Parts: sequence; structure tokens; C-alpha cells
Amino acid sequence: MDMFESLAIVGGGQSAKYLLLGIAHAVVAGRLPSTLTIGIYEQGHGWGTGLAWCPDNVSDVHVSSLATPSRRAEVGRGELKRFEQIVAFLVSLGVSVTSRSATLISSVERAGQGWTLRSDKGALYQARHVVLAIGHSAFAEQRFVGQAHLRPWPFRTLCERVQARVATGRADVLVLGSYLTAVDVVAGLDANFGTDPARLRMSVLSGSGELPKVWGAPPPALDVDTLSRRVLSDTVLQRCAGNRFGLDEIERMILQVAFEGGTEAVPETSLEAELRRLCAGESAERLKRDLQETAGGAVIAWQTALFGGLPLLSEAFADFTDRDKLRFLSIRSRYYRAAMPMARENALRLDALFDRGVLCTLAAPAGYQLDYSNERRVHSLSLADESGRSRHVGEFDFVVAAAGSDTRLAHSASPLLRQLYDSGLACGVYAHDAGRSVELGGVRVNARTCEMLPARASLEAGAGRLFAMGPLLIGTFPDAQSVGHIARDAERIVERLVVLNIKD
Ligand SMILES: Cc1cc2nc3c(=O)[nH]c(=O)nc-3n(C[C@H](O)[C@H](O)[C@H](O)COP(=O)(O)OP(=O)(O)OC[C@H]3O[C@@H](n4cnc5c(N)ncnc54)[C@H](O)[C@@H]3O)c2cc1C
Repeated sequence: MDMFESLAIVGGGQSAKYLLLGIAHAVVAGRLPSTLTIGIYEQGHGWGTGLAWCPDNVSDVHVSSLATPSRRAEVGRGELKRFEQIVAFLVSLGVSVTSRSATLISSVERAGQGWTLRSDKGALYQARHVVLAIGHSAFAEQRFVGQAHLRPWPFRTLCERVQARVATGRADVLVLGSYLTAVDVVAGLDANFGTDPARLRMSVLSGSGELPKVWGAPPPALDVDTLSRRVLSDTVLQRCAGNRFGLDEIERMILQVAFEGGTEAVPETSLEAELRRLCAGESAERLKRDLQETAGGAVIAWQTALFGGLPLLSEAFADFTDRDKLRFLSIRSRYYRAAMPMARENALRLDALFDRGVLCTLAAPAGYQLDYSNERRVHSLSLADESGRSRHVGEFDFVVAAAGSDTRLAHSASPLLRQLYDSGLACGVYAHDAGRSVELGGVRVNARTCEMLPARASLEAGAGRLFAMGPLLIGTFPDAQSVGHIARDAERIVERLVVLNIKD
């Protein structure tokens, strides 16, 4: 028997699930051999859930970010079974699948025509090809100015800490970040501790102080080819082939859809100006207006345009000029607040919390400082103003880090990613413009195949290839963390494995 397994998948979350599904399709179609041997390595115990859908991590109040949301823990409980079913199906086709849980892979090194994987306990495994499907574990939490902060997950642990404080008085909680994870924290604490300002107060702090917008009805699918022919007089493919598909073109398509329900022609405006307009205003009032606008399940043209345009934008991003990449980066947060808004049930919770004086938002466009008093066990928050002066705004028992991750490779929290970075097998993604160099996050890959591109040509792949998928590709595909994108990454990898004739 070959000393190498055909394929090692590091990580057993959603990415691994979609990859196994893609492989199953290819085996059924006779495009991959049924003699494949696959090893899957998961540092935890659950299969198919990963971080965001793991019932041990999230509570029953946490919903998915869709117009018709599902409970993430409930989906997660189903995922465990679905993963087992996919593995059983592959085995029924003749494929050998070995699932190794409680196995953290800490290094991947080249070994002849393949790779050696080493676990943190020193066990060695060999595989011809390796796929990194390590998702969110790859990235460190944002570093905050000030003292230790609590993590949102597992949510149970956060609740236990707050409960201990609520039992003896009022808990004042500062949530860093104002996008969907921050909404998860606020909604979850509300569900556990109620809307009594004598027990709980929450402040949400971010640069802009803006909250996500609110889902209306599920937006209809966007036929991007028809749209492209209408707006640009070419199909998307023709445009891409001629290198004439950048942020300007996508902007024109999105504005067309956003305004075409109206009676007037598409106004002279920019995506940036419209996103600013959509998110403008004091956040509690803005939320009330958004709730009114989306009441009764209205289809919102802006949501159709921005949500529908996201896969197109994400797929086209790798071929953008660096200037376009950086221009998108500057509007990315607002784009997401409007394109991937919060579920209506969360918005209603937040609205009630504002009304009762339990919740407020804080904006820190010029930065902030947190100081911790060991004696009084409180975090003291000051906001900077434009002139650099600082103003004290309040004290908090807890600070929860809910602002997303630092996706820069050198800051990675994953021992595996750090080893790959140090050995040159993984390198960062950058955009340069006007003397500025910005790291876009994640690892550099070939956008057509998801194969990792090493730092030096001398490290180029031999027969065995190293792939990455999912959130690791954030610098190449801005929507890399979404489930839709993960499914497309899986297809790309399977296509490449077919071409490589994986058995050889
Ligand atoms: C809070 C949150 C909410 C979200 N909500 C939605 C939503 O509503 N809708 C949506 O479409 N998307 C949502 N997403 C995004 C999406 O669900 C995730 O990006 C996706 O599930 C990622 O899957 P993954 O398998 O790539 O990564 P992960 O879920 O992070 O899974 C990676 C797995 O790899 C394992 N692992 C990591 N390193 C190693 C190692 N060295 N060795 C062994 N195992 C390892 C981890 O334990 C983990 O199980 C959300 C994301 C987050 C963080």
C-alpha cells in the first residue's frame, strides 16, 4: 500500500464538509477514483460545525445572518449527522476515510512526493495532497488597547461571568465591535438577563458606531449575466477575458439594481456615497427607520443589489487592480452592514433595549483607550477627539471582544499557520498603491485552484499540492468566510485534484 494517503484535510468544519461532498460527486461521476484514501484531522471532537455553528459554542438565541434565519445551534446539531452521512456515503463508494478527532496538526512539511503532517502530540501522518480547512482558528483576535477582555465564544462561559456580577448588582458590559458578532453578544445577554437596566447595561463601541441594517424579505436572485449585458453591453466572462471588469463596473451594476425600481433614471452617485447615506444617523433612530422600512417583509432593492452582487464582487476581486482593492477595502465595513444585515428578530431586541435604556452605541473615529483598575475591578473607557484629547465616558465590569479577527498572517494564532509562514510555504496577500502597502489578510493562493503560493519559487510544489480554503482566503476573496464561497472553493479544489489525477 502507498505510504501516502491521497488527501489530508486539516480541520473538520463546514469547509471540510463541502470538500467531501465535492469529492463524492466527482467519484460518482467517475472523475476521481474510488480507491482514494482520505484523512481528516480535527483538533476538537465535533465534525461539520466548526466555530460558528457548534452547539457547544453558541446558544439557542443565535441565528444565521439571512433574511429567513435559522438557529445556528440547531443547524449545528444537524451538521454532526450530515457529516457522518457524507463520510458513510464516500465509504460506500469504496473511498477510505479516516476521521481523526482530538488531533491538532501543528506542522506540515514536504516529504518526497507528498507531505508529512505532525500533530501536537508528535504523531506523524503522510499525505500526497493537503487542504488547509482551518477556518477561523487561523486568526488572532484583534488586539485592544487596555486590559484582558472576554471572548464571545463559548457563549455559556461569557454568561457565567456576567451572571456572577448580576447576582450581586448591575453588570456594565462594553462590547467592542458593532457588526454581527456584537449583535450576537447583545441579543444573547438580553435573552439571558432580560431588559432591566437595574441588572444589565450594554454599550457597543466601534469606529463608526453604526449597527448593521435590518433584513427585509429574502432578496430575489440576481442574474448577473443579463445585468452585465444590459449595463456593460458584455457578459461577465467577456469583460473578465478583456481585463475590463473592475470595481467601477460592479458599482454600475449594483447601482442599476438598487435604483431600477424607482421612476427616475439611476442618479449620478457613487456606491460609497449611497452606503454612507444608508448607514447615516444616530444608531437607535436609524434602527427604528430600518425596522419601519422592512416591516411586513418588504423586498429592499438595496439588499437585492448588495447581497446579490457580493459573490460577483468577491470572485472578481482577485483580478482587480490594487487601487480598486484598496478602494473596496475602504467601503467594505459599510458594504457588509448593508449587504449582510441583522435578522429582524435581533433588530427588534436591540430596539427594545434602546427604548429601555439598557443599550447604547459609542463611536470612536479617532480611537479610544481602556484602563483597568485592579483595585476596583473596572475598565475605564476614554474616547479620543480629533485634536487627540481624551474624554472619559464610563466604567465597565466586562469588555467583550466582538470586533472580528486580525487576519494578517504574521499575527496568526494558529501554530500550524505560523510554521508554514516561517518556512515560506505560506505568505501574505498585499495591495500597493500610492506608496502604501496594505496586507489584505490570509494566505496567498492561486485564485483559480486554491493552491497556496509560497514565498519563493524554490519552494514551488512538487507532485503533492498544498491547498487552502474558506476564511484563510480572505485577502483573495473578500467574502471568503461565507458558506457560498466555501462551496465554490471546494469545487475549485476538486477540479484541480481531477486534473492532477489524484491517485498518481
Ligand atoms: C460568529 C459567526 C457567525 C457566522 N454566521 C454565519 C451565517 O449566519 N451564515 C453564513 O453563511 N456564514 C456565517 N458565518 C461564516 C461561516 O459559517 C464560517 O465562515 C464557516 O462555517 C467557516 O467554516 P470552516 O470550516 O472554514 O472554518 P471553522 O468553522 O473555523 O472550522 C475549522 C475547523 O478546523 C479545526 N482546526 C483548526 N485548526 C486546526 C488544526 N491545526 N488541526 C486540526 N483541526 C484544526 C477547528 O477546530 C474547526 O473545527 C459565521 C461566522 C462566524 C464566526
